[in-house]
Amino acid sequence: MDNEASRIEMPLIPLRGLSIFPHMVLHFDISRGKSIKALEEAMVIDQKVFLTSQKDASSEDSNSDFFEYGTICKIKQMLKLPGETIRVLVEGISRGKVEHVIFDDPYYRASIIKFDEELVTEDKEIEALKRGCLAAFEKYVSISNKISPDVLLSVSSIGDAGRFVDVLASHISLKLEQKQALVEAVLVRDRLEVLYSLLLSEIEILEVEKDIGEKVRHQINKMQKEYYLREQLKIIREELGEEQSHDEEIAKYYEKLKKLRLNKKITEKVTKEIDRLSKLGASSAESGVIRNYVNTILDLPWNKQTKEKIDIKRSRLILDEDHYGLKSVKERVLEYLAVRELTKSMKGPIICLVGPPGVGKTSIAKSIARSLDRKFIRMSLGGVRDEAEIRGHRRTYIGAIPGRIMTSIKECESKNPVFLFDEIDKLSGDFRGDPASALLEVLDPEQNKEFTDHFLEIPFDLSKVMFITTANTLSTIPRPLLDRMEVIQVSGYTEFEKLNIAKKYLVPKQSKEHGLEKYKFTLSDKTIVDIINRYTRESGVRELERKISTICRKAATIIVEDNKKSIRVNTQNITKFLGIPKYRIDEISLLDQVGIVTGLAWTSVGGQTLSIEVSTMKGTGKLVLTGQLGDVMKESARAGLSYIRTKIDEYNIPNDFYEKLDIHIHIPEGAIPKDGPSAGITMATAMISALSGVKVNRKVAMTGEITLRGRVLPIGGFKEKSLAAKRAGIKKILFPIDNVKDLEDIPESVKKEIEFVAVSSMDEVLEHALKKESKNENKKK
Ligand code: ADP
Repeated sequence: MDNEASRIEMPLIPLRGLSIFPHMVLHFDISRGKSIKALEEAMVIDQKVFLTSQKDASSEDSNSDFFEYGTICKIKQMLKLPGETIRVLVEGISRGKVEHVIFDDPYYRASIIKFDEELVTEDKEIEALKRGCLAAFEKYVSISNKISPDVLLSVSSIGDAGRFVDVLASHISLKLEQKQALVEAVLVRDRLEVLYSLLLSEIEILEVEKDIGEKVRHQINKMQKEYYLREQLKIIREELGEEQSHDEEIAKYYEKLKKLRLNKKITEKVTKEIDRLSKLGASSAESGVIRNYVNTILDLPWNKQTKEKIDIKRSRLILDEDHYGLKSVKERVLEYLAVRELTKSMKGPIICLVGPPGVGKTSIAKSIARSLDRKFIRMSLGGVRDEAEIRGHRRTYIGAIPGRIMTSIKECESKNPVFLFDEIDKLSGDFRGDPASALLEVLDPEQNKEFTDHFLEIPFDLSKVMFITTANTLSTIPRPLLDRMEVIQVSGYTEFEKLNIAKKYLVPKQSKEHGLEKYKFTLSDKTIVDIINRYTRESGVRELERKISTICRKAATIIVEDNKKSIRVNTQNITKFLGIPKYRIDEISLLDQVGIVTGLAWTSVGGQTLSIEVSTMKGTGKLVLTGQLGDVMKESARAGLSYIRTKIDEYNIPNDFYEKLDIHIHIPEGAIPKDGPSAGITMATAMISALSGVKVNRKVAMTGEITLRGRVLPIGGFKEKSLAAKRAGIKKILFPIDNVKDLEDIPESVKKEIEFVAVSSMDEVLEHALKKESKNENKKK
């Protein structure tokens, strides 16, 4: 580079915050004395001056440090302005470097090394850099919006690379150091490189700026739009005379929350939600979810409860008032309440009322609530398959809602209701696991103090709630749940009890509900018994109540249509109200038969008679079982068969029956007994009858498990079974001797009509079941 350099002496002016490139025209004002002197000196000689930048642009001092590199310029014009200021117009000629300062007073004079511009031709690299710069400049122009397209045109037409850089650089806005870097890049290639990288970084900065600018503009637009819409909405609401404004609503929430005086943690959480709601604006989608949440929380009965005093006398009165009979059940309930009163706590086991449908379980729970002056909630668990039904959905879920427990508590507006979980056995029947464990948490006094619904996310105290459960059977209730409960059995009713319930409760209730009180509406006892026996077959009274309701409905129609004043329903006209009877009073067959025996089963809906049929046919000794049979029943059929093979001679059974005959056992009624093996002796009896051809006494029913040696083992559900037997017109029941202790539970009315025979072996069973005459007849044959 030194090759092209030559030395010249000339005045020097340090510029503040300005720099100038060769080929560039610039005007600026000077007012410092030293600079004016330098200018004047230059004008006297050859109008050339060396311009360089002061390192510290803010310094007023003309002696402060300046960069070595600068530009030799020619002064084109000078104009004196008012005051000590001179406006100068200069044109850059070439780069230069201060070799040394000759003197600095009264102005700077320096020896300058002048760099003549190299002439570059046909250098591919330089050409490439030049094109790169041009493309970048094009982009720069398009983004910055500040440079006119003409400039682009004139720049692109410059052939000389050195000049090209200088002209281009003069059009972009650069910081002083950046400009200085360009001034110091004496070689054209260096200069191109510096410019190129400067352009690229400028473009990047411009793009970011633009991006931010757009975002800000968008945000402002959106806010303006929302503001505008909200204002409109406000006006529309006002016009419609509707609703409080958003602010009012929020203020109400805060006030309500304050009034509830919840603990600190909960208050903070809810406050946070209300804050969020207030920021969201009234109509956003999310605000709907939060509003629902806040409303639910604020509506919960945090401090509301009904006043309770356990008064056993009053409870007894109310239980008696609402229910006929059920003596032992009422007694158990009162004992339970008495203990609660003494311990003054809701801890301890939970009542579980177990029994067939329609025996008054729900209605007892309702009476308990009434006698304690508590609100009553009933929640059926039948078919509950999802934990969320009990404990709610998490709020991240779309359409999330609180669980049914908290929803019910909210609706009943009291935190100490009687809460009935109906059909708790159905919960476990469909699936185990989670709903049951959620329920466990609810029922556990240790845990339910802080029951946390997934939706609400904050604990609510359920310990004041009195939980009661009901079930049809205990067998499907998960063990851990069962362990927490005090089981009270509610068994089925006898015909006499049903009659009384109907007379004293169901008929008055239904006739009142149907508006028949003012008319003479009578239903004779005989008619009610008829309904019980010929139109219903159940352990409870639900169907009976429905039939009575049907009669009342029809009676009301007749009264209105025919203008009648009184209606008498009797055994003659009952078919007009209820149609043809569904059942015969005597369900048992009219004749004694071979191979058909009446068993007694206990199902979840109460006791039932079970007609077991056996027939034999030529074959290979197969045992075929059809109908609704569980595995346990099949096992006991096999046990019976083995027993029979040991008794072939005694009962006159063909010796080779187990090789030549197939035995087919069928249970036509399709009742599914819960205690599978209790049909054991019934099946064995039917098989013996079929194999020996001896008829069975149709008035005899039996229940009992059988062993291989023909012993009879005890069974469950004895009372329910005996009631079913009575309904079916049975006269004698054979039952296991170990069940004798249960005889005291059997209602007197049943004992009066049915002979109960305790048996310990199959021999005794057959003694009573098989017809003697036919046995003799058979022998004669
Ligand atoms: P469950 O809950 O056991 O299925 P419910 O409580 O629903 O039975 O009873 C069905 C109907 O029978 C109700 O109207 C109830 O009042 C009535 N009921 C049941 N048992 C009695 C009874 N011992 N005395 C009076 N009414 C009864």
